[in-house]
Formats: sequence, structure tokens, C-alpha cells
Amino acid sequence: MLRVGLSGGIGSGKSTVAARLVELGAVLIDADRLAREVVEPGSPALAELVERFGPRIRTPEGALDRPALAQLVFGDEQARADLNAITHPRIGELTLERMAQAPADAIVVHDVPLLVENGYAANYHLVLIVDAPEHERVRRLEGRGLDAADARARIRAQATDEQRREAADVWLDNTGPVEELLAEVDRLWSERLVPFERGVRELRPAPRRPPLVVEPDPEWPRTARRLGARVLRAAGEAGMRIDHIGSTSVPGFPAKDVIDLQLSVRSMAEADGIADALAEAGFPPDSGCRGDNPHPVDPDPGHWVKRYHSSADPGRPVNLHLRVPGGPGWRTALLLRDWLRAEPEARADYLAVKRELSGRFAADEGVARYAEAKEPWFAAALPRARAWAERTGWTPPEL
Ligand code: ADP
Repeated sequence: MLRVGLSGGIGSGKSTVAARLVELGAVLIDADRLAREVVEPGSPALAELVERFGPRIRTPEGALDRPALAQLVFGDEQARADLNAITHPRIGELTLERMAQAPADAIVVHDVPLLVENGYAANYHLVLIVDAPEHERVRRLEGRGLDAADARARIRAQATDEQRREAADVWLDNTGPVEELLAEVDRLWSERLVPFERGVRELRPAPRRPPLVVEPDPEWPRTARRLGARVLRAAGEAGMRIDHIGSTSVPGFPAKDVIDLQLSVRSMAEADGIADALAEAGFPPDSGCRGDNPHPVDPDPGHWVKRYHSSADPGRPVNLHLRVPGGPGWRTALLLRDWLRAEPEARADYLAVKRELSGRFAADEGVARYAEAKEPWFAAALPRARAWAERTGWTPPEL
């Protein structure tokens, strides 16, 4: 099963995207609809609301009088908090129930207007955000019978563009004709969501891409934050901290388009304990790269000092390294990052090596050979990085 979060400001085209995804075969869970279900006449939640806000919020027919309730909580923080405390846990339970009822191979789309505002992004394998310019949205909402001033006020009250960008794995631009949007959704479905779902279900990382150095993408740090939050959530208590490492963590530095994340764990036993949870979250163990084996002839992975996972999402390559703080690879990964961030000469040097190797290898064993070919450079660079640490008083981050 794949959990996809869908959101976007009012009038952006979110419902249009949701409807298309359902046509393509997705199971839709509509948060607005569940929010209405939990306060149906006769429901315990409605009884609690009446107890808190008085009989005024109930219609003569016994249903919730939404406008009356909206007026009571408008501008009243405490009232809003009380309303949420009564309804949110029930909506959450119902959502989990509906997810559990979906087939094991379902692509579940959770349509949540306030996904960004409520900080839910880490709950999903992937978040889709639909967007259109404000004047377009107002025009479309007017077409739906909403007053322009009212539409603008609602737009202002929602998440900012920046907050949405932070949450979005996929940004669907709905500025143009609706046919363009739908074609984009169709492509996303077949090229990304369907193989991603299969990868999660079959515990299979996405196929590797040939190692190719590309120009730095300003989205990399934000992507790393978003994915890191997902990894930490899946790791639970075992996750001590998450760090963006590797070349994509060095601002302005050309790199392979792969986000490297280092998850700190107390022991390899704890790393093994969360392997299934990480796989369920979209990061299955990856036997294609083992690395960090201090005893090259030791066949027992239990003795190795790293566990390695990678993403099942074919649209976003991610390598996830699980290491124990203080262990050899743990410190080196952070040191090399910070040294490269600080020293232009180190970057220039390393870049020359990477450019030399970029595009020389095919996808599969090529990734390992690319890494292998960089080894001599690393071996020579490490003493320089250590000298730099000595000189500057660098220490790894606090746990
Ligand atoms: P949301 O669910 O985000 O509020 P909707 O999907 O309901 O937005 O779209 C708002 C309105 O704009 C609807 O009437 C819809 O048919 C229309 N609409 C959506 N996308 C486009 C588009 N690309 N061009 C023109 N109208 C659109």
C-alpha cells in the first residue's frame, strides 16, 4: 500500500486531481467527508459538542448547525482548540480504519485541505500539492459561486507558498488548461505512484540510475528535511538524529541527484529492529550496497557497522545510512560534509574527480564502481579533513 497525501489551497484544483486519481484506481479518503461523518446526528462527538457549545449548534432536525458552530469558534482560540480536541481524534481513528480497509496493493489518496497547516506531511510516502496563481483561483471560485472577497480571505488564512513547497514531494502546477493538469496526473500515476507502491509492498528499492553528476538543485536541502522527517517518524524511539550528508548536502556543489541521509541509532541491533518500519515507510533495506564493513572477509552482517536502505520511490533517489554515533563511518560522513562546506579547494578537488567519473558507468554495478573509483581520493582527503578539524576545533553535532 502507498499512502499519498493530497492538498492545495482552496480553488487550486485539488478536487479535480482527486477525482482523476480515483478514475485511475486510487482509493480516496476525503478528510472533509470524514469530518462530517464523525458529527452525524446521534454521534457521540455531536453530543460532546452540544455539551461544550450549547444546544444552539444543533438544528431542529438534530444535525450539526455548521454556520452556528463556525460563528462560535471564529476568533476564539480556546473554542477552536476544544472543537479540535473533540473531533480530531475521532477523525484520526476513522482515517486509520479506512486505510486498514483498503486492499494491500492500494494507492490510498488522503485528500486533506489542511495537510500543511496541521503538519501531516511525514505521515505519507508522498505528498502532492496542487497550486495555481491566486487570481486564477479567485476566478475559478467565483465560477463556483463564491464571492471574490470571501475567496481571497480564505486564501490568506491558509498555508503560505513556502510552507507548501516544504511539504510537497510533487508540485502540480494548475495554471494552464485542466487537460494539462490531468495529463500530468496520469504520468505521475503510471511512472511514479504505481511502481512506488509495488516497491514498498515487495520491499524493493527503486532501480538505480546511472551515476551522473548534475548541477546543484536548490531543492535538495528542503527535500532532505522532508524525507528526514519521514525517516525519523518511522524510526520512532530508535532514531537518535537524522543528518543530510553526502554531496547534495554541500550548498552549490554539483552532485549525483541522490539524497544521502544518515540516521543515528544506538546499535546495529536497534537498526535491525526498525528495518521493517523503515521499509513500510518507503525505505527498504538495500542489499546492493553494504559498505562500511570493517572486516572485508567477515560474512556476518551482524558484525558490520552500518545498515543501508534506499528509497522505493523511482522519482526520488535516496540512500539511507544507519550508523552508531562514534563509530568510524558516522564521524567521517559528517566531517567530510562540513569540510567540503567550508573549504572551496576541497570542493574543487573532489569535483574534478567526480566529473571525471560522471557518465562513465551504467546503472547497476556502475554505482558500486563509481563509489570504488572515488575511494583513492577519499583516502587522500581524509587526513586533510582531519587536519582541518584539528585546526578549526570541529566536532560532530551533539546527540
Ligand atoms: P479545490 O478542490 O482545490 O478547491 P477544484 O478542483 O474544485 O479546487 O477546482 C476549483 C474550480 O476550478 C472547479 O470549478 C474546477 O472545475 C475549476 N478548475 C480546476 N482546474 C482548472 C483549470 N486548470 N482551468 C480552469 N478551471 C479549473
